[in-house]
Amino acid sequence: MSKPVIYWFRQDLRLVDLPALIAAAKAGPVVPVFIWDEELGGEWCMGGASQWWLHHSLGQLHQGLEQNGSRLILRRGDTLKELAQLLEETEATQVFASRQYQPWAAGLEQQVRDMAAGRGADFKRYSGTLLFEPETVRTGSGTPFKVFTPFWRACQKLEAPALPQPVPLLKKPASWPNSASLDDWSLQPRKPNWALGWENLWSPGEMGASKALHTFLEGHVADYGDGRDFPARPNTSRLSPHLKFGEISPRQVWWAAQALKEEHGALGGAVDKFLSEIGWREFCNHLLTLFPAMPDRAFNPKFEYFPWQADPQLIRAWQQGQTGYPIVDAGMRELWQTGFMHNRVRMVVASFLTKHLLTHWRIGQQWFWDCLLDADLASNACSWQWVGGSGADAAPYFRIFNPVAQGEKFDKAGVYTRRWVPELAELPDKYLYKPWEAPELTLAAAGIELGGNYPTPIVDHREAREAALSAYATLKTLAV
Ligand SMILES: Cc1cc2nc3c(=O)[nH]c(=O)nc-3n(C[C@H](O)[C@H](O)[C@H](O)COP(=O)(O)OP(=O)(O)OC[C@H]3O[C@@H](n4cnc5c(N)ncnc54)[C@H](O)[C@@H]3O)c2cc1C
Repeated sequence: MSKPVIYWFRQDLRLVDLPALIAAAKAGPVVPVFIWDEELGGEWCMGGASQWWLHHSLGQLHQGLEQNGSRLILRRGDTLKELAQLLEETEATQVFASRQYQPWAAGLEQQVRDMAAGRGADFKRYSGTLLFEPETVRTGSGTPFKVFTPFWRACQKLEAPALPQPVPLLKKPASWPNSASLDDWSLQPRKPNWALGWENLWSPGEMGASKALHTFLEGHVADYGDGRDFPARPNTSRLSPHLKFGEISPRQVWWAAQALKEEHGALGGAVDKFLSEIGWREFCNHLLTLFPAMPDRAFNPKFEYFPWQADPQLIRAWQQGQTGYPIVDAGMRELWQTGFMHNRVRMVVASFLTKHLLTHWRIGQQWFWDCLLDADLASNACSWQWVGGSGADAAPYFRIFNPVAQGEKFDKAGVYTRRWVPELAELPDKYLYKPWEAPELTLAAAGIELGGNYPTPIVDHREAREAALSAYATLKTLAV
């Protein structure tokens, strides 16, 4: 029997349309491996909510491999050491993996390549996480794009992504190396179990990803253009955690969307809008490759001198959904209770933190990192910098969301807000987003005691807006 090869799974936890796995299967019997390396990424090691997802996703991947006559070998510890150990145990001649884009990924891949070479083995890396590799999208003068619209236009002029590929036939090795037990890794929270009931909200794994895509395309994409901004509507795909863990490839999404467009031409506009959001995911990774310091440093260097404040009490109120601004509180509680937050509301709460509370976007980024199931280094950093005004192609800092107006515009009937802030359920629509303006009798009839069971606003919108604009003005004179 020919010598085995190792397939090193990372954020590509699927079997369908995985070019590196197809190549591995051609090269010999495959030993599929996932290494839980808690130190990898330093302060960007995986957050709590994502660990919950990882636990379930690995379970699904293991099942999928078993159905294909294979299995998933789990190891815990330093990636390099574990891979070296596995090469020795299995006598594998090659290690296959899909490319990752975190700032530490390329260095680690080089170390793996060197370590493998020292043992007479090869390391082979394939694409599979993005539609277009960052190096292939360039302006006319050969430089990377820093603005989304021309970036996405250029992507669409490139050769279309290849068609998705089926699961390859996986030959078994003569013997299997030992595997750790997933349950021993304690990826799920216990005391307290803050993820209670999440199994009813999410279906991690490849099947769940495929179902989410098809439910969305068949039922909800038609209203995506308008509906995607309204958090109470079911018009977004909720694919982000699946894409983040690589349970579905962007090519599968792309081609399923193209097929729908071909079948129902009238849906073209909505489908293109949806694909342009997938384009934002590409753009964020493109920027992270260009500027690996993006999670730590402002893309626009002027913002390194912004007079940020850090009031622990205000930050805690924001994290706990106790700001006194109902749409902000609804979003922050949705995040805590479900591991997710609607995009429109993410923008509102991020604007509130960076502009109303003058708090550094990195603090918000870190909280999202721990709480989001879809926490992704590129999209999170890019989005926080976008809202905070310091990013490439960012919203201008002086565009400060009014949390009252945002609530009234995007959740007029209060369906979303009342769900997550139930203490306001009985408050008439007229006062829902500004309970402090409601007459005493109205508040009493709704069972609300401001400063008691619901907070008074932690900052005054108008004053906070002025303070934010003054802080921003200090940057204008900087010669950076
Ligand atoms: C402050 C802030 C932080 C964010 N952090 C993350 C994060 O850590 N991980 C993450 O995946 N997204 C992040 N986003 C982007 C966006 O909010 C989510 O991708 C989206 O809400 C996921 O929901 P969906 O799958 O239903 O999206 P859909 O509207 O159905 O979009 C389809 C897919 O496109 C991608 N996408 C959509 N919008 C964006 C965007 N603005 N930037 C990058 N990709 C996008 C996602 O992969 C998403 O699954 C953040 C946005 C903000 C404002």
